[in-house]
Amino acid sequence: MASEKQAALATAPSDADAPTIFDKIINKEIPSNVVYEDDKVFAFRDINPQAPTHILIIPKVKDGLTGLSKAEERHFEILGCLLYTAKLIAKQEGLDDGFRVVINDGPKGCQSVYHIHVHLLGGRQMNWPPG
Ligand code: 5GP
Repeated sequence: MASEKQAALATAPSDADAPTIFDKIINKEIPSNVVYEDDKVFAFRDINPQAPTHILIIPKVKDGLTGLSKAEERHFEILGCLLYTAKLIAKQEGLDDGFRVVINDGPKGCQSVYHIHVHLLGGRQMNWPPG
């Protein structure tokens, strides 16, 4: 499998409403290990985990939010939901000593899927600066 960086550089930022693999995951056309779901948010384990706990938290409706750089005022609520859900899942996963949330944006941010997502990483000591 290509590295995340290779995948990101090979993926052109897509149109606002172009479907991504995450639509198939939300619709359960592609199986995933779901850890949380409500009417707005869907969360599942990353297929290529970078930590013992690595979960992706995404809005069910993309509404043009391919990445954080495309955020508009109408996205305030869903952006808050994504972060608050990360906190809930961190608690659910027992990440009581700390965790990290990451939003990759664009090719230089190593984004490979153009449907905004929060990475929740935990279960090991993180390093700084990130690569
Ligand atoms: P990005 O690089 O865009 O920030 O993150 C995309 C993430 O989606 C990557 O960490 C990648 O491993 C994950 N991913 C890509 N395809 C699939 C898939 O089919 N299933 C799951 N569970 N994760 C995926």
